[in-house]
Amino acid sequence: MLLITCPVCNVTADETEFHCGGEAHIKRPASSDPANVSERAQYEYLYVRNNPRGMHREMWLCSRGCGKWFYAMRDTLTLQFHAFYGITDSPPPLPDGNGTGSGS
Ligand SMILES: [Zn+2]
Repeated sequence: MLLITCPVCNVTADETEFHCGGEAHIKRPASSDPANVSERAQYEYLYVRNNPRGMHREMWLCSRGCGKWFYAMRDTLTLQFHAFYGITDSPPPLPDGNGTGSGS
């Protein structure tokens, strides 16, 4: 059982009370006109994800609480969460040598 604390409403509950939205901090292709984005850039934005062995940043939805998205930093080896932070907060630094989690 994984316990998650929503940084928005400060509720701590089992992971079944939340929904994982996958890797955090995925950047949209840099273009003001989506029609000018290459197919490769669109493909990578939509489908290519990091799958690190170690620390990983993820999006989570507080689906039974406040209904807001937030970020979490989790170790994929131990499944332990190391940080929860809001959408507008700066991400905490990753420990050295533990995955990229940056989405780039
Ligand atoms: Zn919440």
